[in-house]
Amino acid sequence: MTSRTHEHRRAHFLFLAVFMMILCALSAALTLWSVNATERVHAQQTYDEILRIKQAFLKDTVQNTIRNIDRLRAFNRALAKTGAARGADPEAWADVRTKAGIAAVIREHTFADGGYIWVNEVVDWAGGKDYAVRRIHPNLPDTEGTLLSTETRDLKGNLPYLAELEGVRDRGEVFFTYFFKRRDSDRVAEKITYATAYRDYNWIISMGVYLEDLQTYVDEAHRESERLTRPILLSMVILFLVLFASALIVLSRRERVFLARTSRIIREESNVDHLTGAQNRRIGDAYLQSFFEKFAEGAETPLLFMLDIDDFKVVNDTWGHAVGDEVLAKLAHALRAVIRSGDLLVRWGGEEFLLICADATRGSAAAFAEKILDAARMIELRATGDSFFGITVSVGVSWFGSSDRRFETAVTRADEALYRAKAAGKDCARISPPES
Ligand code: GH3
Ligand code: MG
Ligand code: MG
Repeated sequence: MTSRTHEHRRAHFLFLAVFMMILCALSAALTLWSVNATERVHAQQTYDEILRIKQAFLKDTVQNTIRNIDRLRAFNRALAKTGAARGADPEAWADVRTKAGIAAVIREHTFADGGYIWVNEVVDWAGGKDYAVRRIHPNLPDTEGTLLSTETRDLKGNLPYLAELEGVRDRGEVFFTYFFKRRDSDRVAEKITYATAYRDYNWIISMGVYLEDLQTYVDEAHRESERLTRPILLSMVILFLVLFASALIVLSRRERVFLARTSRIIREESNVDHLTGAQNRRIGDAYLQSFFEKFAEGAETPLLFMLDIDDFKVVNDTWGHAVGDEVLAKLAHALRAVIRSGDLLVRWGGEEFLLICADATRGSAAAFAEKILDAARMIELRATGDSFFGITVSVGVSWFGSSDRRFETAVTRADEALYRAKAAGKDCARISPPES
């Protein structure tokens, strides 16, 4: 392989590697992105789900409180009727007892996550500066009895009292969020709140929990899903790397095989003469050179048969160049049938062939030359219509001698023998053995 093909191969390979690396990186990025997107959606869903559960819990708890008020009120009314009111207005007596009883229950009642119930008594359902009185507030008991305003803003500028009042007044119940100091610390936290009214007392009964507690659940869910996806991601990366490496190895193997085969075919084809299928002179020279070197080291000499078609000009002139070409092809075909697999047929010149016979002995030179002459004589060629014609060749034979310094010397001797065969009337062979 030449260094240029090597360079091409390297460039080609580099391109493939970079291309595949980009593909792998893209797929990895896409996977990462989709895993992240899934995690985000999962986190949001967890958040929403927990929020729904919290909201249901808030609503249930407040509605339970209202049922408790009704129950306690009915009990106190019944008690008033038994004379326990001692002359006071029984309804009012029952309500005072009910309110006090419920207040005690609410103040005692604590919930997980710092949740609690509070009650505001509305003075003016239209809202305004002193629209309500804070009645029950387990978190800030000192502020019970203070007046409240719908204009009051929370720490983030929202109007929670207004939101609460409007929601309860216009829709019967409301969920809203606002920012409030936590009961257990000075931290400000967002609170999700449910509020509804106990109309008979003009009470707005509310309950809230901190949303930041929710975040801990979401974070926990997120960590859990991370624990699941990390190994998957890692194995994806490993899988990509393994795929990438094996694809490169397979490609490189296949490339090498393909390249070797192609270059062998190219080499073989460029060595072969297209018209006759014989090896070209360049290969003939290379063979002779290598045979000569082996001969110099003590190996047997091959026999060289130089042959030339007799009166080929006449063939060309009479039947045309195309028929001349056919003669060349048929002669080469006939010669190949005579020689052995270790022998080499070389198209030496226009209508000259050199046969290099590796295994033939010198004693068989004359007999082999006769075989060549016969092979040529046997060729039957169609001229025009039904007319046929034949050809003959002349053969000059020689081989390497110990005094030869170069293989060309032996070739020249074969040429000279061929010349003598022509001079002797053609269609015959002559041998020019080396001097020693
Ligand atoms: P001789 O018996 O002395 O060899 O006579 P010749 O007519 O064969 O003479 P020579 O060997 O000098 O002839 C060579 C001719 O071969 C000349 C050329 O036109 C012809 N020739 C060489 N190559 C080709 C070829 O590829 N195709 C054809 N059709 N003719 C070729
Ligand atoms: Mg010639
Ligand atoms: Mg000739």
